[in-house]
Amino acid sequence: MSITDTLKKTSFDRNDIIRLLVSTDTQEIELIRKEAEDVLLTQCGSEVFYRGLIEFSNVCTCDCLYCGIRKSNTGVKRYTLSGNEMVSAAVWCAEQGYGSVVLQSGERRDAHFVELVESVVKEIKSQTVSQVLPHGLGITLCCGEQSSEVYKRWFSAGAHRYLLRIESSAPELFSTIHPPSQRLESRIECLRSLKEIGFQVGTGVMIGLPGQSVEHLADDILFFRDLDVDMIGMGPYIVHSDTPMKSHLHYYNEKKEWVFQKSLLMIAATRLVLRDVNIAATTALQTMKHDGREQGLRFGANVIMPQLTPQEVRENYLLYEGKPCLDESAEQCRFCLQNRVQSVDRVVGFNKWGDSKHWTRRNLRTEP
Ligand code: SAH
Repeated sequence: MSITDTLKKTSFDRNDIIRLLVSTDTQEIELIRKEAEDVLLTQCGSEVFYRGLIEFSNVCTCDCLYCGIRKSNTGVKRYTLSGNEMVSAAVWCAEQGYGSVVLQSGERRDAHFVELVESVVKEIKSQTVSQVLPHGLGITLCCGEQSSEVYKRWFSAGAHRYLLRIESSAPELFSTIHPPSQRLESRIECLRSLKEIGFQVGTGVMIGLPGQSVEHLADDILFFRDLDVDMIGMGPYIVHSDTPMKSHLHYYNEKKEWVFQKSLLMIAATRLVLRDVNIAATTALQTMKHDGREQGLRFGANVIMPQLTPQEVRENYLLYEGKPCLDESAEQCRFCLQNRVQSVDRVVGFNKWGDSKHWTRRNLRTEP
């Protein structure tokens, strides 16, 4: 089927999605990009929403085979920010008009950690209420798999979005990149539980994993659709040389261009299939190409996560190598990003939570 015919469809099946993802012709890709951008503009508008990213701890009990801060990587200098440090970064974020913050960390389930997150969420909420943000900053958590009791506590404290990537929805791929103790089913359980509790739920995958095909990627999009998620964060898999997957470095270098192109097509295809969800243009895209995030926006993304992690610990949160902006202050990051957003004819949605339209429609609620 020609790409024009595929793009005319109002509902896409697996073959249609594969058809989108296999495109390599420049003109075809431009047609797909344009259609994804049109759907984004009609469904969500032209605003790009910021989520100030605070990577508050690299202490992790997991051993994901791809991740630079995995438990077994003894070369990592471990840190956990204090509650005060986290709250100050969030207050700065609110003062800049960013509207939302993401608290991300390695995975821990001890009582001390659970309490730290809970108290920081409450404190951020109480310190960021203002005329422009009557309900304080929007808070997204990205702290891995937890019990539903813990998720409930964090939700009651005031967090209203949660990101938990499925990494790959294909059982055979999931099990090759995680130790046997980590199970795809428990991650799906967590996503269901988060939704039931009332969170806006985000998930996503890494693109370019060894052995991953366009069929796998198409199935990932169908997984997002079937789970009816509100937000998507996905990006290229980038090799870290202190991980068991370092042997794929050669493969990665050879496939770099393919992976970057597939990452953009995944954003576009996800936009076409899921329509009104929020999609992030992730930092990993920028690691591959200096304008990777702007490209992500042009292919249908509408969320960007400016770095707010204090500079002195930022270099210790290396999930992968070549992470950009390590030496830029949050202040520099702010101006740099605004220029990047404007360069693709979009505007920053300052002082708004920028909730996923899919979620508001799903709940027939409007943003406060
Ligand atoms: N512990 C939290 C946060 C993990 S880090 C959680 O489990 O959700 C956030 C994301 O970084 C991960 O979900 C993973 O998709 C991504 N990531 C980790 N290592 C990566 C790598 N080498 N290349 C690209 N992305 C990576």
